[in-house]
Amino acid sequence: MNMVLTNAKVYTCKETAPWAETVVIRDGCIVYAGSSEKEKWEEAAGIGSSEAAAAKDTLPVYDMKGKMIIPGIIDSHTHPGMVSQSSWHIRLPWTEDVNELLAFVKKYAEEHPVSEAPFLYFEYYPTSMFGENGPTKELLDSAVSDRPCLCQDFGDHLHWVNSRMLEMMGVTKDTPDPVPGLEMFVRDADGEPTGWLKEYVHMRFADKLFRTIGWTPPMTMTPDLMEGFFRFLTEHGITAMADGILEGEAQLSSMAELDQSGKLNVYYDGIMRFWSYEDLPEKIAELQSYQQKYTSKHMKLNTMKLFLDGTNESGNSALLSPHLNDPKGINHGEIKMDRDELKNCLLLCNRTGLDIHIHMVGDRAFRVGCDAVEAAQKEAAKLGETWTMQVIFAHCELIDPADMPRPAQLGITINWSCHWSAGYFGEEAQTYIGREKWNRMYQFNPIIDSGALVTFSSDVVTYYELHRADPFFSMQVAHTRVDPEFPLNPGTYPGSMRPEESARLSREALMKGYTISGARQLRWEDQLGSIEAGKIANLNVISDDFFKVAPDHISGIKLDAVIFDGEVIFGML
Ligand SMILES: [Zn+2]
Repeated sequence: MNMVLTNAKVYTCKETAPWAETVVIRDGCIVYAGSSEKEKWEEAAGIGSSEAAAAKDTLPVYDMKGKMIIPGIIDSHTHPGMVSQSSWHIRLPWTEDVNELLAFVKKYAEEHPVSEAPFLYFEYYPTSMFGENGPTKELLDSAVSDRPCLCQDFGDHLHWVNSRMLEMMGVTKDTPDPVPGLEMFVRDADGEPTGWLKEYVHMRFADKLFRTIGWTPPMTMTPDLMEGFFRFLTEHGITAMADGILEGEAQLSSMAELDQSGKLNVYYDGIMRFWSYEDLPEKIAELQSYQQKYTSKHMKLNTMKLFLDGTNESGNSALLSPHLNDPKGINHGEIKMDRDELKNCLLLCNRTGLDIHIHMVGDRAFRVGCDAVEAAQKEAAKLGETWTMQVIFAHCELIDPADMPRPAQLGITINWSCHWSAGYFGEEAQTYIGREKWNRMYQFNPIIDSGALVTFSSDVVTYYELHRADPFFSMQVAHTRVDPEFPLNPGTYPGSMRPEESARLSREALMKGYTISGARQLRWEDQLGSIEAGKIANLNVISDDFFKVAPDHISGIKLDAVIFDGEVIFGML
């Protein structure tokens, strides 16, 4: 579609010309972003030349009456697969009262017999509820024992199951932990699983569980199952995204189908998970087969994903100092790979022309990650191999001050999920890392100031929290360090603001990280991320001036119109 948007306040995110007043769109692309002087945009739009008179009649001109226009938002780490697959989960009441929670589970099980609900999956119980030893299967058995039942913690990395679930997964005292200390069954003194699970360890036993109960939850990826997630993106001005983990081929084929029927409306960058240097070649081959089959204008796959450690709230992040709750003072948390294995993975990805996206939370994971990148770059140079890969470190919740300059020095991209910037995960991590380190969590200004690429994302994994993927909500939390939904105790933290005040992110940095920097991470910077001639016309008309609205009103900004590939796909002009 062709159109002219004039008399607007256009924040272009182009460094050399951040502001414009008029945008001209032709054939889905921006051909002009500049001043409102009629001769200028008419000339750029080709009006005034010989072919022009006719064209002028067909080129609608919209007077935006001073409204703000920004580029399409880029969510550079989110989970369409996991969110779509969570539609059958049951939401628990938000309470730390274990009796109230168990009563809810019991009542739910009574109202929904086994024939109707053969497996109960509840989310979420507050992580702080059970302390470092976690809850027990016997406790959950007291509410439901006639079928497998699982309760997921608020941080998404801990799971509480009943005896029936362990039994039907075939998990006993003798079952080895897939990744000891990290992805594991918590055990009592006799080695018996207590019913508390770290990470998604049960997923490795899911096939057996579903076979035993003769039922599979509605998790098969279909266009219908996925449509809701992509509609959410459209309604919130998100026109490009990176997938935190691609959940298999059915997801890609469903998305390709949605794309063909005009319901995808997003530029999608898929990421393939691997576990170790050993399985990396196989996973690379799988990614390459998907590349051949599914690469299109809107879809591409170019990145491998690794989980290097756990989370601070689960007590399995990799730390430079020992976990405070360890009486022996030797537990530094778990790390999936040492420097050399990670270095070899990086070299292989670089050789194959792929990028890598690494989950890391603790300060030791960050250091090992930086050390591995440094070693891999040196080795590549020695071997005469060009270093072309992009390394993305996601989360980076705790960084030792000495490592802050390293992303800029090593060309590492840092990805942060803005809506976590305040009270979302509470104070639970203090059990393991202490108050001093907790106060230093979520510090990204030193990295931004050092010149490294910093991108932003939502990292939502279930429908329960999908509303928080609203970029304006996320930006407000990162700008104020106050979470309106999960405020910290104002008695301890004045105004519920998470320390440090200096860690609040500026609006400029936020907008940049959600647009042009995100486009760089996705390797789509030639086409997306800013409003300038030559780029694809993905842009948002918003209800308020992003730079002038009160800090606690940023989340109230609405999308008046979302333009994707030059078409209005939501709202109206
Ligand atoms: Zn994620």
